This record gives sequence, C-alpha cells and structure tokens, in this order.
Amino acid sequence: MARLSFLGAARTVTGSQYLVEAAGERLLVDSGMFQGSRALKQLNWEEPSFDPASVRALVLTHTHIDHVGRVPLMVKRGFRGRIYCTPPTRDLAEVLLLDAAHLQEEDASYLNRKGLTRHQPALPLFVGSDVEDAMKLFETVPLHEERRLSPVYSFRLRDAGHLLGAASVELTVSEGGRQTRVLFSGDVGRFETVLAHDPELAPPADYLVVESTYGNRSHAVVPVREQLLAALTRTFARGGVVLIPAFAVGRAQQMIVLMHGLVTEGALRPFPIYLDSPMAVDATRIYSQYPDAHGVALNGVGGRSILYNKWVTTARSRTESEALNRVKGPAVIISSSGMMTGGRILHHCRQRLPHAENTLLITGYQSENTMGRALLDGARSVRIHKSEVPVLAEIANLKGLSGHGDAKEMLRWLSAVQPAPRRVFLTHGEADAAEALAARIVKERGFDSYVPSLGETVELN
Ligand SMILES: [Zn+2]
Repeated sequence: MARLSFLGAARTVTGSQYLVEAAGERLLVDSGMFQGSRALKQLNWEEPSFDPASVRALVLTHTHIDHVGRVPLMVKRGFRGRIYCTPPTRDLAEVLLLDAAHLQEEDASYLNRKGLTRHQPALPLFVGSDVEDAMKLFETVPLHEERRLSPVYSFRLRDAGHLLGAASVELTVSEGGRQTRVLFSGDVGRFETVLAHDPELAPPADYLVVESTYGNRSHAVVPVREQLLAALTRTFARGGVVLIPAFAVGRAQQMIVLMHGLVTEGALRPFPIYLDSPMAVDATRIYSQYPDAHGVALNGVGGRSILYNKWVTTARSRTESEALNRVKGPAVIISSSGMMTGGRILHHCRQRLPHAENTLLITGYQSENTMGRALLDGARSVRIHKSEVPVLAEIANLKGLSGHGDAKEMLRWLSAVQPAPRRVFLTHGEADAAEALAARIVKERGFDSYVPSLGETVELN
C-alpha cells in the first residue's frame, strides 16, 4: 500500500518535502530548506528519516529556496536519482542554489571569525561544488508531458502560476493493479496577476496536497498600477529617486513590466531604471529566454525582451553598483534583498533614506525583526553597517503583488475537482491558516480535509 510522509512544510510555510513509498520504490516531491526561526533552521541539519540513496527520483514544483534548498544536501547525503522539473525551474534553480551556497559559506565564516558558534567550526549546509554535483542530476520535463519513471510512478507537471516555471505535480502511483492519483499543488499563484499565468485549475485526484499560505486571509482588491503610478509621479515631481527593494527572482521582473506598461501607455515619460543585483540580472536573462511562459508577451518592438528595454541598465559589478550613488531623479533603482536583511539595497538605503525627495517603495511582505518592517512601522532612523541613518525619504507600500492565492482563490483553483477526492491534505501554511482553509473546504465542498503534522506518515489506500 502506498504511503505519503510529510517531511516539511507541515503546519509551517518552509521546508517543503514529501516522500512517497510504493512497491518498494521511493520518490520525493520537493526538498526545500527550513527558514525563519533558529529552531526551524536547525531542522535542516537533522539526518533524514530515510536513506537518500534509496530514493529513485525527486520532482520539484518550483525554484523558491523553501522548495529546492535541501536538494544539494540530499545529493551530498547520497541521493543519485534524477531530479525532474520544468526547464525554467532548472535554470533558475542553478542561480538560486549557487547564491544560497555562497550565503551559507559567508555566514559560516562570519560566525567562525566572530567566535559566535557553539559548533566548532560552524559549517555551511552545502557549498558551490555540492550545487554543481546536484545540477548534473537535473532532467527537464515540459508542462503537460506525461513522464513514466518506472512501472510504479509516472507524473505530469501543470502550470501553477506563482513564478516562472512553477508547477503542480500530478503523480500516478501504480501498485497491485491499482492506480492512485495524488496531486501536489506546489505554490499556487493568483489569478489575473502581473506577469505570471493564471494557475491551471486542479484536476480531479484521489488525494490532494494543497498549500495554505494565505488559507485564513483574503487579499484586498487594490489596483497595483495606480498605486505605482502615484508613487512614481510624486517622487519624480520632487526630483527624487524611487528605491525598490525586491526579491531578485520574480518581483524585480514584475516591477520592470509594470513600469514598462506605464511608459508605453503614456502615463509617464521614459525614465531610467537601474537593476542592481547580479542575481536579478541573471534571473532577468532567464525570464527573457522564455517569452511564452508568462501572462504577458515579453517581446516588445523588434522582438527584443521588454525586460531589456533601453531604459533598463543592469549593474553587475560592485563598481557599477557604487556608481549608482551619483544617479539623480527621476530614476528608479531596484536592488535586493527584498526585506532589506542584506545585499546591495543597504548601501542604497544609506545613500537615499536621509533625503526627503526620495521614496523607498516596499513591494512585498516584510517579516518581523527586519529593517523593512521597521521602516513600514515608521522608524525615524535605522542602523546600517554600524551607522545610524536618519529616515527623511517617503516610505510607501505597494500592495497586491502577493505570489500566493488567498482562501477564495484556492477554492477557485479547486473548483474543477469532481468527484470528491478521498482526502485533501493542507500543508505549507501556519497551523491556523491550514486549519482555516481545511474548514472552508469542508464547508464549501464537503471534501474530507486534514492538516498533517511534521514527520507524519499516512497510507493512501
Ligand atoms: Zn514559492
């Protein structure tokens, strides 16, 4: 009898990893990093409950680190199967995992230098060469193509919206002459959003494993275009620069597309956009290589990607980045990290926040104890690189760009599931969000719904 184990993202939003076992064969869906609190991060170091060498294949839904961040670790621990995902997911995973390895190595060397570790010496979870080993095992599968791995497993990837390359996994398990279909939602995007496709509606399945990040929330209906236009117009009238902290993959490209739209429709005169992040530059190149994988056509006049239009200047080197200190408004600088927890955005903040003509435009969720959250909460000064920086610039918050559907959108995504599945498992949400979505699915669809615990194994019979 097939078994499913929830080895991550159970009553929490990170560390996605599911183990399926049937007819003596093992398969993993996602292998993400636990992020957030120290207790969660510690889980990354725990020995897996299974032997990675015994796993036949790993199927990835998408490239966010909470879904792929433990892949190099699995390989380091003996996994030698194939890693399947869409072509854009493979390309982006290489960029994101190399960056994650670099951060791991930097953190470990910092802790060792400062003597801040109980572990002597502090070690990175994985290094660049582990990522290179992992990349050799990748095999891409286009959306909708049925891929048979063995007499036991076959799967198909379906567009999940959310992010370039993101997919849901429709897994068919054949055992003892019976077929069981399990659908893993991955992260499900929003409908009618900027850049990404609408998610494909979930197909009927025997079991569904469904994300619930915003299972207890409804996104306000806010016109993103109007908010952005207002912030740019106000700042440019003051002769200021708009500084946008943005996650390098997804959010940075959405912002360029939105601003390109404002200029081409004549709402604003052309203005220079500076993209200052090597990772964002790499990701933008990958986005441009898949012009048909988005909700909008990325090819502008002459077939050139609008992400590389004449107003967008990319800064890769440190010198190019520092040269941006001399830029005068009207102009936009996009840099990372999105929550201002590190990266080049910090030197731009130090440069721009003390001046009232500028605007810091926040475009995504800011978690507790980040500089982004402090600024949103009205901090009059912030500490950057050991100096106190006064905040005189305008702080604006662009709402409506969340990458995850809310409760209503998740129910819309489930609307084509008929007949009722045997059970719906709610994962990838804090306990209250997962419970709330489970209750709504019971009430509105009458499906048996359940919120599993971390490490729990269920039988799929
Ligand atoms: Zn995601």
